[in-house]
Amino acid sequence: MDKLKDHCGVIGIYLSNHDDSASRLAYYGLQSLQHRGQESTGIAVGDGEKIEHFKAMGLVADVYKKENLDALKGHLAIGHVLYSTCGKAAIENAQPFVSRSKLGTIAVAHNGSLVNTEPMKEFLEETGSTFTSTSDSEVIIKLIAKNYKKGLERALTDTIQLIKGSFALAVMTEKTLIGARDPNGIRPLCLGKLPNGWILASESCAIDAIGGELVRDIAPGEIVIINDDGVLSFNFGEKTSKKTCVFEYVYFARPDTIMDGIGVLEARIKMGEVLARESGVAADVVIGVPDSGLGAAMGYSKASGIPYAMGIVKNKYIGRTFIAPSQEAREAMVFVKLNALKSDLYGKRVVVIDDSIVRGTTSRRLIQIIRRAGAKEVHIRISSPPVKYPCYFGIDTPARADLISATLETDEICKSIGADSLAFISMDGMIEALQSCEYEEDSPGVMTIGENGRNGKQREGSNARDGGVSPYGASNCGYCQGCFLGEYPMPMIGELGKR
Ligand code: SF4
Repeated sequence: MDKLKDHCGVIGIYLSNHDDSASRLAYYGLQSLQHRGQESTGIAVGDGEKIEHFKAMGLVADVYKKENLDALKGHLAIGHVLYSTCGKAAIENAQPFVSRSKLGTIAVAHNGSLVNTEPMKEFLEETGSTFTSTSDSEVIIKLIAKNYKKGLERALTDTIQLIKGSFALAVMTEKTLIGARDPNGIRPLCLGKLPNGWILASESCAIDAIGGELVRDIAPGEIVIINDDGVLSFNFGEKTSKKTCVFEYVYFARPDTIMDGIGVLEARIKMGEVLARESGVAADVVIGVPDSGLGAAMGYSKASGIPYAMGIVKNKYIGRTFIAPSQEAREAMVFVKLNALKSDLYGKRVVVIDDSIVRGTTSRRLIQIIRRAGAKEVHIRISSPPVKYPCYFGIDTPARADLISATLETDEICKSIGADSLAFISMDGMIEALQSCEYEEDSPGVMTIGENGRNGKQREGSNARDGGVSPYGASNCGYCQGCFLGEYPMPMIGELGKR
């Protein structure tokens, strides 16, 4: 499908009662994060004295056998699912990465993408490090390992201040689980409470899946250290400016996830409502492109009063493992993946809601499918603004020349894909939709870090409050809009800036 693709998902488990089943919980959590990466997966587990790990190519459900999980015994674990953007699909790029030295063992799982990999790699190679993968994440573990003699906390803060880009990290030693999020909070990471421990996850749906409760999001620039003493939280730098990836809400995240205090489905519904207000059209039925267009379609229907219908059925059994050999064959796969419901569409003026247009190839085929089912008119509405620039922060985007909105105006795209009309949500409209979904203060389920703010250290544990406020309160307005405007959360250097 012609979509931007997410990079990875991470999970971390700490069982305070030293039950040795952390790997099983990581496994179930990874199942819930499978949409974030389907190329490879891995789990590392610690028992207080050593770290063991297992990695393989493929889907979580296919990769792990009972004997793999039985062999991974310990009370803390980190796990990873990967769709590689900067490294090629190969087992050497699978995560977690593990580094062993006489000081101890460290394992790292990373979601995101570094923008200063090359200078960091050169620096490490000049000082004796060797690399076994093409992944930028290996730079992170090498830097932590290099600084480990200064102590874990210092090694982490020193590393994190050297690397630039997006990172949500789950790190472990034999005894300690650590979570960290980049100073802009570009990629998500949240903290959950288990009956007998703690969980870190890219998305709250993984916390729900293993019977935990979402405590809060890890704040931009925050490190949490989890061990038998509870959760120690501190900031690794003074300068944080929240710039969460807006596409997490539009497309990547699961609808049942709550991210930085915003319910993903709720956000999609609101985007649909704004879209209806901004670009209404006379029509008989509203349908959404499965799955991520469905929420916005519900919102469009609600705001416009035009009835909502299913309209399109998706074949769920086409795996990513099937790689069609040519562009034409890949486009034809849309016919295999999606089919239209004639009973919903025949003789009707149809509004079709999709989350994005990247190259335009899927939209073109989709409109053919809907017209073949007898639709009288096809009006396309997109719940994100035009994607005109590449992403450098962990999302796989085509080169700029292949982004249809980078070269064509909206009316030209409309003609090119064969729609009767086309409109995108405005940037202001999308941000307005997100802001209207922010949890109000005192909403349950999201907990503040504490009275000291995030610059001091604070330990969370049994005294943690059950109800509290979003870490961002009512000023949660910082989103990365780089792929829409070309304005990124940090300066792009060298070749990256020229793409
Ligand atoms: S450039 Fe776009 S896809 Fe990349 S992090 Fe920013 S909003 Fe997300």
